[in-house]
Amino acid sequence: MSNYDAIRKQLEEKLDHLVARAQEIDSNLSETPNEDWEERAVETEGDEVMLSVGNVTLREIEEIKHALHQIEQGTYGTCSRCGTKIPFERLELLPHATTCTKCA
Ligand SMILES: [Zn+2]
Repeated sequence: MSNYDAIRKQLEEKLDHLVARAQEIDSNLSETPNEDWEERAVETEGDEVMLSVGNVTLREIEEIKHALHQIEQGTYGTCSRCGTKIPFERLELLPHATTCTKCA
């Protein structure tokens, strides 16, 4: 399974990046609200955007962790629906893919 080394590295780097981003979003959200009403309204809107960005980030973190776990278990690269091997080219493009091109 050594040919997954590059993908594993890519996943780990992405994970680091996403975790850093999630922490950044988290610290932005917990800042004390602005006293000025108008500015606070703008901030609330920003917070909502931040929250959805945060949710996407957290989901991606879970997907990547799952993929890394599969690499460790030796089950990585197998379609979760039909059980066929996912083409390497697809995994290179989408390292946390859990389905083959047909099932996606
Ligand atoms: Zn499939």
